[in-house]
Amino acid sequence: MKPAPFEYLAPTTLAEAISSLASFDGDAKVLAGGQSLVPMLNMRLARPGLLVDLRRIEALDYIRESGDRLEIGAMTRKRTVEQSALVARRQPLLHAATCLVAHPQIRNRGTVGGSMAHADPSAEYPAVAVALDADLRAVGPDGERRIAAQDFFVTYLTTALSPAEVLIGISVPCLPEGTGWAFTEIARRHGDFAMVGAAITLALDAGGRCADTRIVLFGVGPIPVRPRGAEQLVSGERPGSDLYREAGRKVSEEIDEPLSDVHASAEFRRHLAAVLTQRGLEEAVARAAATA
Ligand SMILES: Cc1cc2nc3c(=O)[nH]c(=O)nc-3n(C[C@H](O)[C@H](O)[C@H](O)COP(=O)(O)OP(=O)(O)OC[C@H]3O[C@@H](n4cnc5c(N)ncnc54)[C@H](O)[C@@H]3O)c2cc1C
Repeated sequence: MKPAPFEYLAPTTLAEAISSLASFDGDAKVLAGGQSLVPMLNMRLARPGLLVDLRRIEALDYIRESGDRLEIGAMTRKRTVEQSALVARRQPLLHAATCLVAHPQIRNRGTVGGSMAHADPSAEYPAVAVALDADLRAVGPDGERRIAAQDFFVTYLTTALSPAEVLIGISVPCLPEGTGWAFTEIARRHGDFAMVGAAITLALDAGGRCADTRIVLFGVGPIPVRPRGAEQLVSGERPGSDLYREAGRKVSEEIDEPLSDVHASAEFRRHLAAVLTQRGLEEAVARAAATA
């Protein structure tokens, strides 16, 4: 199929992009890498009156270190993140997750901001943003605001952005010294969307017990899911296979609305979430121990 007719603008400044979006009163859409939006246009699942292409706004394409955070522009390609030595060194979980997004051809065009704004429940980046406590920076007619990742993802393919707002970048804390991490997922084939995935960070305290445990699962609900009961179960405990198994069991109890579709049943997703939690905790503890 071909898309329904639309007007097209490719501004070179953010101000121009925002005023163009506002002038179409909710009937305009931002175009970034086009890897999700173009198929939706072709299938007529999206029929905007105007497309505002951000590709020529060079100011939205950057990766910078700023104190203990990484600032990444919304139009930064995933391939650029993958190839960034700075990201690999200061935020290895983000780097590892990026390498698992689709195929190189898609990472060449798909952008960081596009993945966040698209908010696919099976996508890696929303889970990474929640796991790392990232802030998302948006600009609209009323100026700029920062939205905590926890509040950004509202439901399936829906974010806290208003139709007149542009996501301009994300601000990601660097991985603190001594923190262990894991990013693990299961997909039918390499490069496919994951059926389920898990992002985990934790530290070991002076007595070798787990601290600051953060577990985020994706592919098990409309937005990234944080099983707080499992996080509490792990925190303050000595790591070991019994603890990992118990945390996995707790996770499968806590997931209350797993997706059921042609790729996997809800029960299978619940099982995968438990297994990935177990594996991820083991990996994260090993990394934390290696830096201690
Ligand atoms: C075959 C295939 C496999 C894929 N596999 C995976 C995968 O395994 N994991 C994964 O995470 N993704 C996967 N994707 C999706 C891919 O990562 C897309 O790049 C991503 O979902 C959207 O990014 P984009 O830059 O292409 O955005 P676009 O497609 O251009 O836009 C997506 C949506 O976000 C909005 N948007 C984009 N940028 C902004 C912004 N700055 N401000 C406000 N709104 C914005 C658009 O209006 C649109 O609604 C796959 C895609 C394909 C085609």
